[in-house]
Amino acid sequence: MSGKRDYYEVLGLSRDCTMNDIKQAYRKLARIYHPDVNNGDPQAEEKFKEISEAYAVLSNEEKRRQYDMYGFSGNLFDGINFESVFSEFGFGDLFNMFFGDTFGSRYSTSYSTRQGSTRKMFKGTDVYVEATISFKEAAFGVKKEIEYNVNENCPECKGKKAKSDSGIATCSVCRGTGKVSVSRSTFLGSLITTSTCQNCQGTGVIVKEPCEKCNGKGYIKVKRKISVDIPSGVNDNDSLRISGQGNSLGASSIPGDLILNIKVKPHLQLKRDGNDVVSIIDISFAQAALGTKLNIETLDGNEEIYIKPGTQPGSKIVLKSRGIVPLNGYKRGDHIVYLNVKIPSDLNEDEKALLKKYAEGRGELVFDGKIEQNHNNFFSNFKKVFKN
Ligand SMILES: [Zn+2]
Ligand SMILES: [Zn+2]
Repeated sequence: MSGKRDYYEVLGLSRDCTMNDIKQAYRKLARIYHPDVNNGDPQAEEKFKEISEAYAVLSNEEKRRQYDMYGFSGNLFDGINFESVFSEFGFGDLFNMFFGDTFGSRYSTSYSTRQGSTRKMFKGTDVYVEATISFKEAAFGVKKEIEYNVNENCPECKGKKAKSDSGIATCSVCRGTGKVSVSRSTFLGSLITTSTCQNCQGTGVIVKEPCEKCNGKGYIKVKRKISVDIPSGVNDNDSLRISGQGNSLGASSIPGDLILNIKVKPHLQLKRDGNDVVSIIDISFAQAALGTKLNIETLDGNEEIYIKPGTQPGSKIVLKSRGIVPLNGYKRGDHIVYLNVKIPSDLNEDEKALLKKYAEGRGELVFDGKIEQNHNNFFSNFKKVFKN
């Protein structure tokens, strides 16, 4: 999608690195490329941006996972609180100065505090909805209709909050910018930083005649139905973020996101192990010894498997590429069938006679069916056997 370098490469780390590795790598590189030690060298600044972006994503477990799965696609920066990510390093303010535009304009203008930028926009809150899917739907992916309640721009005032355009006035404190400037001295010298105008809560306007339909809020609650592509390979409790489908705060806001929490219904026969599917099949002693054919349930429907003669308890049969389709869609997992040999506990007299005959033929000592009565005799027979 972009000419961006891989985040792990940027930080000089391998994909299986720990959170601690990520922090240490960033700390080390930030010391080298920090604008403060490079006299504002634009190349160092670019480098600093690059490592900071990589750090912001990889230091956030959810975002790191998203990046590992989808790379640069999707809203990687959405939901990251950059200010708090970097305040730990003392870069909170700096981040706004350098990255306000980079991330702010595309993802959330709540970070665009760069001097002279346009009116601050609010981002509406996220809406959380649960969606339950079947085991098979999780394995292959599914399109789901999701219905939920959400705040949408008021159709009466078009989200502008006032009855008419004349019912709205520019805030006199911030002159419509939604922000007030404050001069602060920092280790980089004197900086103008901005904060939200308290008079208009950053909207830049004062509503004089509120819209009657929405009581001047600019939004109303509606029922919305959207179709969501749930990717293959999702796990129980995974969350999908659907950008821009959350609550609106009116025309001057950007809507929040819809967070879809996925619940995967357990399957009676099939269990998941990574991208593999596991099932346990009971076979009888005779089937294990003589071999058989079985019809078993797989993700792709019923499938015939061949049990070879002399199969031991706990042995497994691997059905290649019959498992979960992973999130990246590349290589399907396998279906592993574990064979559990069931020993019968409900033999009738005929069956007992047959088995006794079988044991006799192999010289195996077996219980004659009168253990309660001949307890001592039975065990003394055992002793005899062990003595030899
Ligand atoms: Zn309205
Ligand atoms: Zn104001």
